[in-house]
Amino acid sequence: MERSIKDIQKKVESNSAVVMTSQEICELVEKGEAISTKDVDVVTTATRAIMSGTYAVLSFPAKAPFHFTRASKVFLNGVPAHVGPCPNESLGVLDLMVFGTAHSSLKPEYGAGHLLRDMVEQKPIDVSVITNENDNFQSEITLDEIPYAKLYSTRHAFKNYAAFVNCSSSPINTIFHASSFEPNMETATLSGCGQINPVKNDPDLQTIGIGTKVIINSGEGFVIGSGTRSSPEKANLVGVADMHNMRSQLMGGFSTSSGPECIVSWAVPIPVVNGSVLDSIKELDKDTPMPVMDVDKRVPVSTGSYAEAWQNIDLNVKFSPDKCLRCKVCKPIENCPMDAIYYKAEELTLDRQLCFNCGLCTTNCPGNVFSADLGSIKVEKDGTLTEVPIVLRQSDRKRALNMAEKLKKDIIDGSFTITEMVEKLQP
Ligand code: SF4
Ligand code: SF4
Repeated sequence: MERSIKDIQKKVESNSAVVMTSQEICELVEKGEAISTKDVDVVTTATRAIMSGTYAVLSFPAKAPFHFTRASKVFLNGVPAHVGPCPNESLGVLDLMVFGTAHSSLKPEYGAGHLLRDMVEQKPIDVSVITNENDNFQSEITLDEIPYAKLYSTRHAFKNYAAFVNCSSSPINTIFHASSFEPNMETATLSGCGQINPVKNDPDLQTIGIGTKVIINSGEGFVIGSGTRSSPEKANLVGVADMHNMRSQLMGGFSTSSGPECIVSWAVPIPVVNGSVLDSIKELDKDTPMPVMDVDKRVPVSTGSYAEAWQNIDLNVKFSPDKCLRCKVCKPIENCPMDAIYYKAEELTLDRQLCFNCGLCTTNCPGNVFSADLGSIKVEKDGTLTEVPIVLRQSDRKRALNMAEKLKKDIIDGSFTITEMVEKLQP
């Protein structure tokens, strides 16, 4: 049965639509239930992950007019911003682009992801400007005082991504690990939220197109294109959203052994317009391929499925501070990519708001203060199939599930309206 998005919109407006999360559909499929297009109208999907292709465009007055002609260099909390493309000659206004991979030269572990989260938390941001006249000045600003602050992507929300192993004989520093990647395929890391990932649920982009309204970091945004390296097999999206409406808990910086990266969260509604969209929604983690890549040569090693990443594992890390052995060096504190573990009034503390559920702390704590089953992937090594333990997840399925739930509620109560695309995307 074919239905238009307009028909589905009308059903939602008249409170007669059935809205479900992709997780709920998958659970019914697992139970053997038959689901047809008559049973569901809209399915909500989400992903939260490290997404490199992120940048922000900011515009704000930095000084009264005629104090300088143009800025030549600008730093926000030490993070370099790109000046322009608007000249704003003599207006005292800065137009800036901040790339997601930029980081402070004074504090290399502080990157644009950290900066954007601090901005959304309304923390004061140091603005340091060098002018064309080689003058320099500093000021402080909060997001409320920045009239234009939008987050964009060059590529976000890949259909799914991959698991990684290091096939070389030396440790490697890479964006795909929070510490040095162990050699000889000893460990694995992964990205991709599996069966709940937005584009996995509409791989032919039948309902996601230019103009589709989505949620980015909890704020309303829109799809404006397909991204760099998008392909029919592995489509991704370009989006934009106003930073003023975002929630800091869903974004931030994530330290990798090759520098800080950006965390971004997307939630996307999929109107069930026909059987082929529903067929994709019903594909489970076990049907969703997870390529395993060699991080050294960036070539595929094998293909598993997202069931290895997300089935029969713990989404959350368990924290038992009473088990702490007070070691001389605490590796979980040293290596946590979110700085979510610290001592507060001499109490070992896990900041759940910051924690990404990556799981790394469960692999390097002799007291088992942190514990979680992260699962393993099967890879062929020396002619035999070997279980390689997953030691780091660069996608947070737990919070992605929460986002899909929230979007479902917002559609049902009318605070989020689904939109029709204005143009189809070519992945
Ligand atoms: S490594 Fe584990 S047991 Fe040792 S101090 Fe850190 S939290 Fe405590
Ligand atoms: S799971 Fe552990 S290492 Fe990962 S962000 Fe949370 S506290 Fe840090």
